[in-house]
Amino acid sequence: MKGEPWPIQESPAEGGFSRLPHTRRDPTGPGSLVRVGEAVFGGPRVILVGGPCAVEGRDGLLATADAVAAAGASLLRGGAYKPRTSPYDFQGLGAAALDLLVEARHRTGLPFVTEVLDPRDVDIVAAKADMLQIGSRSIQNFPLLKEAGRSGRPLVLKRGLMTTLYEFLSAAEYLMDAGARNVVLCERGIRTFEMSTRNTLDLGAVAVLKEQTHLPVIVDPSHAAGVDSYVSSLSRAAVAVGADGLLVEVHAQPELALSDGRQSLTHSAFAELAGSCRAVARAIGRDL
Ligand code: PEP
Ligand code: MN
Repeated sequence: MKGEPWPIQESPAEGGFSRLPHTRRDPTGPGSLVRVGEAVFGGPRVILVGGPCAVEGRDGLLATADAVAAAGASLLRGGAYKPRTSPYDFQGLGAAALDLLVEARHRTGLPFVTEVLDPRDVDIVAAKADMLQIGSRSIQNFPLLKEAGRSGRPLVLKRGLMTTLYEFLSAAEYLMDAGARNVVLCERGIRTFEMSTRNTLDLGAVAVLKEQTHLPVIVDPSHAAGVDSYVSSLSRAAVAVGADGLLVEVHAQPELALSDGRQSLTHSAFAELAGSCRAVARAIGRDL
């Protein structure tokens, strides 16, 4: 039945919908708007966020920041603290990367979003970043959720690799119960049996979340696809299904990237993505 909480209700016995007081949508109420600088998530404009998986150095970051700004992005992304599967892989430049992101903001005027991995780093990241990202692997790091929720910064919460929408929204409840008011949900693909993409982009989740919650919902096609050539088509599909924004990995030289190069777009591919997604946005009465 339309409006019923069934799709996100884990167990009726547990109360389901009534246990999501901060995130559930009042069926007659408006969606929430989340402002970061001049960008408004949840408004008529689809918000484009672009940048490298990880901040690797000054020149590359500034070049990519210029390129995403020129292509129409409203926010820059870039990881300072990276959650890597292997401890032997590049872990990010940490605090030094935050300073480079601040420099990129001064240069381009773009606010930035960056991941916070450790509750002990929330203050230092919140002091510099415009928006904090809680990554997929942290979706049930409850101390981190509480600390980030107290930071006062807008937050983007990425769906876990194996989380149901009820678990995803419950993590958002942790943020909001700790005081956060500006939360954006991000679908980034989940693990399934399918191996030809890195993850399976769950566009159905976008439809469910847009109906069941008042929070803006964005899509990260990069981690879903895992391969650059699928990123643009998944982005267009995300806009068509109603996503309020796109979070896309972009690198000056993807083949040299220290993380996620295979799924990263070149500067020119990102500009093409922006153009084709703008056409879809306009076709459904929005803009980008
Ligand atoms: C990222 O955005 O670079 C990232 C690590 O994403 P996720 O948490 O979705 O894997
Ligand atoms: Mn990445």
